[in-house]
Amino acid sequence: MKHFSTEELTASETAKRLNIDNTPDDEATVNMTRLVNTVLDPAREKAGCPIKVNSGYRSKELNKAVGGAQNSYHLTGRAADVTTGTIIGNRRLLAILSRLPHTELIWEGNGKWIHVAL
Ligand SMILES: [Zn+2]
Repeated sequence: MKHFSTEELTASETAKRLNIDNTPDDEATVNMTRLVNTVLDPAREKAGCPIKVNSGYRSKELNKAVGGAQNSYHLTGRAADVTTGTIIGNRRLLAILSRLPHTELIWEGNGKWIHVAL
């Protein structure tokens, strides 16, 4: 992991506000590391601009609080919602991500962020 940290992938305003524990278990930590090494770090290097993680790992309680899907890949640390901060940047990022390994790649919030899962 070069450009992303576990802290960044587990940070959540909702968890903080509602005092929800969002500590990843070992499986989620392994999956997050794989997601960063295989997808996020290579995407960051190709994009050449910062990529912000809006949401990475979510504990069951946090996933419920944010209205995530019951079988969401966020629950196992396999997914991240990422953004460059602009729609144009996100269009480029989507093109980059589409050429990297993934099992889910979803344009969300009218392009405000991209959901990618491995
Ligand atoms: Zn997502």
